[in-house]
Amino acid sequence: MSRFYSIRFRLTATFLAVILAVMIIISLFLYSTLERYYMSNFEDTLVRSGFLASDFVVGHLRGQIDSVRLSSLAEDMSRQAQARVLFTDQQGLVVGDSIRVGGMLNQYLEHEDVFAALDGNVSSRIGYSERIEHQVMQVAVPVVEENESVTGVVFLAASLEEVYQTLNDIRRFLFLATVIAMAVVGGGSALLARRFTGPIESLTTAARKMAEGKLDQHIEVSSTDEIGRLAEQFNIMAKRLNYYTSNLKKFAADVAHEVRTPLTTMNLLTKSLKEHEMEPEQQREFIEDLDDEVDRLTALVNDLLELSKLDKNEIEMEIVTLNQLLNDMLGEYQYRFSHAEVELNDNIPDQDCYIYGAPLQLRQVISNLLDNALNYTQAGGKVTVSLYIEIGEAIAKVEDTGCGIPEEDLNYIFERFFRVDRARARSGGGTGLGLAIVSEIVAKHGGRVWVESEEGKGSCFYFALPLAED
Ligand code: ADP
Repeated sequence: MSRFYSIRFRLTATFLAVILAVMIIISLFLYSTLERYYMSNFEDTLVRSGFLASDFVVGHLRGQIDSVRLSSLAEDMSRQAQARVLFTDQQGLVVGDSIRVGGMLNQYLEHEDVFAALDGNVSSRIGYSERIEHQVMQVAVPVVEENESVTGVVFLAASLEEVYQTLNDIRRFLFLATVIAMAVVGGGSALLARRFTGPIESLTTAARKMAEGKLDQHIEVSSTDEIGRLAEQFNIMAKRLNYYTSNLKKFAADVAHEVRTPLTTMNLLTKSLKEHEMEPEQQREFIEDLDDEVDRLTALVNDLLELSKLDKNEIEMEIVTLNQLLNDMLGEYQYRFSHAEVELNDNIPDQDCYIYGAPLQLRQVISNLLDNALNYTQAGGKVTVSLYIEIGEAIAKVEDTGCGIPEEDLNYIFERFFRVDRARARSGGGTGLGLAIVSEIVAKHGGRVWVESEEGKGSCFYFALPLAED
């Protein structure tokens, strides 16, 4: 990705553009305000000097005009006002000039401001002086007698060099302030952008590695803001994905292992049948063994199919009367229990107990628990199925007086393919998936499952399901 498309670049560029625009607007406003202020101040001072001069020379323009005297007055005033000062009579003829040599004495001052002043108006403008080769402010003030008649004009021209110098200084200062503001904001925004985009870059790198198959990614979360929370969620997601993937790999390896054992046995049996001469009695034994292995494989495939259905499907729920379902199933199992000489008792209340669930899957839960109770209880033993209600839950219990489960295995009993005694359970026909199926179905129903057991004394499996409201 080009760095020009990076958030960091765009954020910094946006900040810089904004600060540049703000500084230009502020500078233009400040500069034009100050320029107006300085110019009008300069003009006011010049006009005030013009009025002062006008008051002063009004008497000198009556009767006989003394140009030498007026010129020396103009010279005095020029020093005070720091401007060239000219006096004209009422025809616009210069009768006094602060510039003695090369001045305009006895020449007509043909200037628009002078004409305006002769009409009784104060007039001013900015012009260019060829003599000093600079911009000047020119002001013309009428000299007015008491009877309101205009007897002459005071004309002042002051160099604007100093004002422009000051304005230039202000311009330089504003330019410098803009450069400093941009440097500070640019640096600050680059740092800020790095702070924001640093974690995003870590996230991108981690996500890329995950896409390449390296799932064990973890990002250091250093903030609690939106990006911090995103990183936290990413870590949780990575952990889950990692867990599921390794579970899946383990599951695939377990399935292969479970399938290989009966296949090896079947392979041996068929080879023996093919290659060796056998008595019919022995042949039948081999075929029965083959049949057992086929049954085992079929049971395994059925359980695997059941699990994959559970992984995929959203189950369709309906109101189920749990006490009735348990009673029905106990009836169906009665024959198998008495055949195995295991006593089957029930402690199920007559009062209907409604839960919300999928009947077929609930049957699967109960039959898996009953199968286990029967498988792991010797002849002469006892299995009791109970049902009771406790704070919004229906709790079913399958209790046996069988071999029990060692304490260290109790935590793993609901895991896929876990068997307490692998050899014994496999030879007993178990797939090691029965309790995993029970636990997943119950979880899908929003319930929970647990076990209490003591080795040699028996086990007690529980599952609790939320009662249906109403
Ligand atoms: P399996 O098909 O092997 O019975 P399960 O998932 O149903 O698989 O059970 C896992 C293991 O838990 C069994 O192999 C067995 O060792 C133990 N187990 C399950 N139920 C009981 C029980 N009622 N009494 C003793 N052990 C049991």
